[in-house]
Amino acid sequence: MNCFVHERTAAVGLCSLCQRAVCRECVGRDAPRVVCRTCVERRPIMGFEYRSSATIAGWPLIHVCAGVDPVTMRPRVAKGVIAIGNVAIGGIAVAGVACGLVTLGGVSVGLFLALGGAALGAGLSVGGLAVGSVAFGGAAIGFT
Ligand SMILES: [Zn+2]
Ligand SMILES: [Zn+2]
Repeated sequence: MNCFVHERTAAVGLCSLCQRAVCRECVGRDAPRVVCRTCVERRPIMGFEYRSSATIAGWPLIHVCAGVDPVTMRPRVAKGVIAIGNVAIGGIAVAGVACGLVTLGGVSVGLFLALGGAALGAGLSVGGLAVGSVAFGGAAIGFT
């Protein structure tokens, strides 16, 4: 079995995305498994991603994503002024794990308002376990 680019070079494996044989040189970098360069460059969209073209200070105004990056196998991270995803970082973040000024999530860390299973907010926290200036929750620790 030879590389699909270099017909005379023995392949080291099959790309796990397009199933083509790749030699050592054609294996994409930064991937924990065998992925060819073509697939690293144009990552097939698995899951869902939406990024608004409007940006504020280099951050997309809205970034919504779900699923896993097919190359790195890491969950996608939504990062934006408004961020929604499995993991979200932003001004307003809604996610399984959310970090931001206003956050809603399973684990929520917010500067002003945090709502979540475990909520940690400098401002207002509401959650199963809440820590904040004003905290409401099963176990609440408040600072006033
Ligand atoms: Zn490939
Ligand atoms: Zn090759």
